[in-house]
Amino acid sequence: MRNLGTPDEPYDLIGLGFGPSNVALAIAVQEIAPDRRCLFLERSPDMRWHEGMLIDGTRMQISFLKDLVSLRNLTSPFTFLQYEKAKGRLEKFVNLAEFRPTRLEFQDYLRWVAAQFADLVRYHSAVRAVTPVRDDDGALSLFRVTATDTTTGEVVEYHARNLVHALGGVPRVPEAVTLGPTVLHSSAFLPTVPRTFTDHDREWEFAVAGDGQSAGEIAHYFLDRYRNSRVHLILPGYSLRATDNNPFANEQYFEANADDFSSRREENRRAWAASLRNTNYGVVEEGFLDDLYRLTYADEVRGRTRLQVHGDSKVTRAGADGAGIRIGVESRFGGESQVLRADGLVLATGYRRRLDPTMYHDVLPYLETDGDGRPVVSRDHRVRATEELTCGLYVQGFAEATHGLGDTLLSLLPFRSKQIITAIAKDGGSLARAFPPARPDAGPDAATLGALIDRCGSGTLVSACPGEFPVATRLPLVLDRHRGRNGVLFGVLDRTDPQLPLLDGGKVLAVFQPDAAPPGEPQAGDPMSIDVRGCARLVTDRDRLVAHLARVGPPDRGPAARAGGSVGIEIEIEGLSGRFPLSPEPRAARAESERQP
Ligand SMILES: Cc1cc2nc3c(=O)[nH]c(=O)nc-3n(C[C@H](O)[C@H](O)[C@H](O)COP(=O)(O)OP(=O)(O)OC[C@H]3O[C@@H](n4cnc5c(N)ncnc54)[C@H](O)[C@@H]3O)c2cc1C
Repeated sequence: MRNLGTPDEPYDLIGLGFGPSNVALAIAVQEIAPDRRCLFLERSPDMRWHEGMLIDGTRMQISFLKDLVSLRNLTSPFTFLQYEKAKGRLEKFVNLAEFRPTRLEFQDYLRWVAAQFADLVRYHSAVRAVTPVRDDDGALSLFRVTATDTTTGEVVEYHARNLVHALGGVPRVPEAVTLGPTVLHSSAFLPTVPRTFTDHDREWEFAVAGDGQSAGEIAHYFLDRYRNSRVHLILPGYSLRATDNNPFANEQYFEANADDFSSRREENRRAWAASLRNTNYGVVEEGFLDDLYRLTYADEVRGRTRLQVHGDSKVTRAGADGAGIRIGVESRFGGESQVLRADGLVLATGYRRRLDPTMYHDVLPYLETDGDGRPVVSRDHRVRATEELTCGLYVQGFAEATHGLGDTLLSLLPFRSKQIITAIAKDGGSLARAFPPARPDAGPDAATLGALIDRCGSGTLVSACPGEFPVATRLPLVLDRHRGRNGVLFGVLDRTDPQLPLLDGGKVLAVFQPDAAPPGEPQAGDPMSIDVRGCARLVTDRDRLVAHLARVGPPDRGPAARAGGSVGIEIEIEGLSGRFPLSPEPRAARAESERQP
């Protein structure tokens, strides 16, 4: 094997973590850009998927067709059905007539895929630090990743032009809770509980905190397997609630709708996320709730109550003492707090997702963050950075606020992995160099430039990916100010245009050259050329295309759409600037030549 990963011969990309997100990326690299050199670092000894909660019989919350690749490439050798075939169970699986496999089987599928990329993964590699490295030109063009071999303790360094961070979440645990073998987070459930509570007949007192699927499954596990136990379920709401699985709400996990979500303004996104929250958070599957209720009813028939629900409550502190565990429980409505005594407490309180400030200590100063301190992530999942940081940091599962509730789940992995590898392949690792952000002092403000773009109506679109065959095409472009952080340019192209695939997912430059204002109309400044930099995305879904056109109207801007056979192109604006003054003569001459057919 070649010695890669040195500053002189860096990887094109290093994936941090090898959970489902980066396994999907490994597939996408092989299928879309096989010439890219990549490596994945994973701290576990092999591929594992939330194995602390692989309780027997628990099922996936999505269809097997939402595997790592099918929705992007049905002919891929890495689909769930290919896995069934390879395992000799395809006909039996079909016979089951089951859309949602068990989690155990899904993990087996993930491991089967991961095994086929074994030469690209360093297991037992715990990532400790990420540092930008300055090149001779003064740019921070490489990342150095420092990882520790968890078996030998050896520290290893790797270099790459791009990183794809997919390290998952960190268990959310209240500050005043001391973890141990009897006080644990759900992520440690199976490796700990059966070993700690070996007597299945004893009258254990268990407590479970949380109101999501994991809390429901753990409460059920205790009641079912410890026949004489009592379970205190401590939850923030009035009672457990069912997941909203209705197919209309579920459409939010479609690729096109996720795109739509991320192009909305922040207040709009917040409202949508809140109204769709019960499709994933703080809810338990309806059928599973029925099972749990039946179990408690059977207890009542036997004359005992074993499940005790403490609604509107939260755990404030917990720790073991000689006699068991003391759990501080506080009412949400300011009622009296109480102390529960139990033998075991499981916190099914979910996960926090953020870039670890220790790991990213040297990188954070270069990253753009929002008002809540989260990294600002572009639609192709790249973290926005200062001009100086020209190497690319991509994140998977760390942009729920801007990319929608599907961001931490499995449904969108086939599409997201494609977007990331397409961006990396097209940018060649120098996106920020190709598109330095507009400086605030670069000229007229965005409103003035927007008014000039409106007046132009059409612009010239130029692809700007280093090392690629350049594409230039002139087309009508409308500025939609209500979407994206800086607005979105929208245009329509003919579906048969051979240049279309070259523009999809790539960085583009739209150049507008407005004429002087007609006599009698106010001139919005000196004549100038306007450069708009952004990321292009094709809109192939006709309903979406029509919806976009309706929004940006007027209708005469989209004649091709009405004629059918057309495709929309939208460019989320990353920066725009005016170049002026231009001498009137050459500008006038150019404007004339542009009117030629
Ligand atoms: C119990 C449970 C069930 C779920 N079921 C579903 C479901 O049915 N459908 C669905 O859509 N979603 C489900 N989810 C959501 C879940 O987040 C996704 O399924 C998926 O795990 C996200 O994949 P990921 O690769 O982004 O993160 P993870 O799966 O969390 O993988 C992160 C990887 O990074 C590794 N890692 C972490 N830190 C380091 C480090 N410092 N160095 C090296 N490696 C590191 C970890 O070992 C891990 O392998 C479930 C979540 C849980 C907890």
